Amino acid sequence: TDDGADLLEVDGVVKHFGGLVANDGVTFGVEEASITGLIGPNGAGKSTLFDCITGVHTPDEGAVRLDGEPIHGLSPTKVARRGVGRTFQTPKTFRGMTVRENMAFAAREQTGETALGALFRPGTIRDEEAEIQATVDETLEFLKLDHLADEYASGLSGGQRKLLELGRVLMMDPRIILLDEPVAGVNPSLTEELLARLEELNDRGRTILFIEHDMDVVMAHCDRVVVMHDGRTLAVGPPEIVQQDERVVEAYLGG
Ligand code: ADP
Ligand code: MG
Repeated sequence: TDDGADLLEVDGVVKHFGGLVANDGVTFGVEEASITGLIGPNGAGKSTLFDCITGVHTPDEGAVRLDGEPIHGLSPTKVARRGVGRTFQTPKTFRGMTVRENMAFAAREQTGETALGALFRPGTIRDEEAEIQATVDETLEFLKLDHLADEYASGLSGGQRKLLELGRVLMMDPRIILLDEPVAGVNPSLTEELLARLEELNDRGRTILFIEHDMDVVMAHCDRVVVMHDGRTLAVGPPEIVQQDERVVEAYLGG
């Protein structure tokens, strides 16, 4: 939409890797409090776009804005502190930490608290720690991972690890959550669980942008859909409109 109500704006983003153009002028907006699906065939440039939004890459051209403020070129930590949470296609959980430790670690990363700082302000830290632990408990319960709180992340199934990664992101209390293929390779019951949690987060006002290549999942759960193909934005709109777009049908069914 052009009414200025978009929380996240991706504006003509270009990203090259040597001679390859992974993002070739990607443009779309994500409305506040929407669930937006980002779909497109393998190699379309979806994950690269997430990297450009979250500071992993700096776009060669174009802009990314959050609430009207440019965020492209900021470090991943700074982008996260602005309120952009992100999960990766391959979960970045710490396998040698328990579920609870993984969650708390994410929260401490966010406050930027260091061990040295903690030494000088022990009282403050005790309060912060108690608050973090309370949020960890609440979030694990919400994700129905509370029974696994003291398990090592290495012992979780792929799907449970993706839920944990969502949990880590929630610990940072982001305004928008970007998820890279959250249900890929996840068993059907856990997939339903994860999608239900995303819908519930959205009901509470959280903005969600998720990459998914299964058209049916996107159609069932998204308010808006962005279709990428060959590094470009092919179509943007409500799922029922996008689904009938000739270019989309062609890109998916092979033209
Ligand atoms: P998608 O997530 O849609 O499957 P990607 O963004 O991962 O697509 O990749 C888009 C294109 O960019 C692919 O051709 C991929 O090989 C290439 N690519 C992605 N990351 C890099 C990188 N770090 N270096 C070189 N090429 C890359
Ligand atoms: Mg990808």
